[in-house]
Amino acid sequence: MRDFSYLRAQSPDEARRAAALPGAMLLAGGTTLIDLAKCGVAEPDSLVDITHLLGMDSIEAGAHGATIGALAKMSHVAEDAGIREHFPAVSEALWQAASAQLRNMATIGGNLMQRTRCGYFRDPANFPACNKRTPGSGCSAIGGVNRGHAVLGTSDACIAIYPGDLATALVAFDAVVHLGDRQLTVDDFFLLPGDTPDREHPIAPGEMITAISIPASPAARRSTYLKVRDRQSYEFAAASAAVGIEFEADGRTIRDLRVALGGVATRPWRVRAVEDALKGKVLEAETVRQASLLAVEGAVDHGANHYKIELAPRVVARAILKLGDAA
Ligand code: FAD
Ligand code: SF4
Repeated sequence: MRDFSYLRAQSPDEARRAAALPGAMLLAGGTTLIDLAKCGVAEPDSLVDITHLLGMDSIEAGAHGATIGALAKMSHVAEDAGIREHFPAVSEALWQAASAQLRNMATIGGNLMQRTRCGYFRDPANFPACNKRTPGSGCSAIGGVNRGHAVLGTSDACIAIYPGDLATALVAFDAVVHLGDRQLTVDDFFLLPGDTPDREHPIAPGEMITAISIPASPAARRSTYLKVRDRQSYEFAAASAAVGIEFEADGRTIRDLRVALGGVATRPWRVRAVEDALKGKVLEAETVRQASLLAVEGAVDHGANHYKIELAPRVVARAILKLGDAA
């Protein structure tokens, strides 16, 4: 890891100014950034520590919606009573992410900005070809070991998964990322790789996530996050689904449905085709299973990751039916 300078920012303006300088990076919990610096993927000239900025770790959640400061810790958000009551999928996504130690250290802003776990991306010494790390160098994963790679949203340049759990829940419920005065929906905050997989977010140097907000809705209130993985803890998703449902007065007909996939796409993946297919229908197992197949419309596998195309619709169906049982 090469030398870098360190600045403890005293105000958001100071942080933005310092982070806008070439070679500067924001430092929050450090659980991603320090790893990436150690393996030579991130090579900051200076780190701008934002963890001492006041007022950016608040959590306000209730029947009106939620606003979460970018410096709120994953564990604090997961256990917040308002989040658990009004946005259970968000709480469950956080509880199932990483480990207790990481959740106590890592922040919501840093979580959204985490980078892919593609092994080639994280091993520059042995795999120089990686378009995300070095534009134009090629992609070692296409034709390589790609069991954990994406089947949705891929391009000829990159097939890396976006690995985060929280953003999958946020995209299902139309959450908004606040960059100071500028706001972007979570859907717009994550870019498809296309020809420029190195560009993951439409943000400028020095822009900083200050908060996220989530609108309240009956579907968010009756929601869940189902994560299937190789082992039950401390593991990224093989496939996951954030689902929220609202029923008509009969308690069986679906009025509103939200579905997003994690662990299978290059970005958090909202699946409106499943939502549209089931709205207005009575919740029945076979109808749900058939509609859930639409979750992987357009999916492309690379051999070893074909299982994700079969797994993802099952995870979606199981999550929807679980919410139906709870009705
Ligand atoms: P940092 O490491 O400080 O920063 C990460 C990036 O975000 C950096 O580029 C930094 O410059 C940028 N950044 C930080 N704050 C801001 C801000 N406010 N505005 C703009 N940019 C900012 N995550 C999951 O979702 N699910 C998992 O199962 C999971 N498992 C994990 C297992 C391991 C072993 C590890 C190491 C991590 C795992 N993670 C998982 C990822 C973990 O959640 C992230 O490392 C963590 O959320 C990052 O937050 P941080 O505050 O430490 O960010
Ligand atoms: Fe790099 Fe993307 Fe290919 Fe992985 S999948 S090696 S991140 S270009």
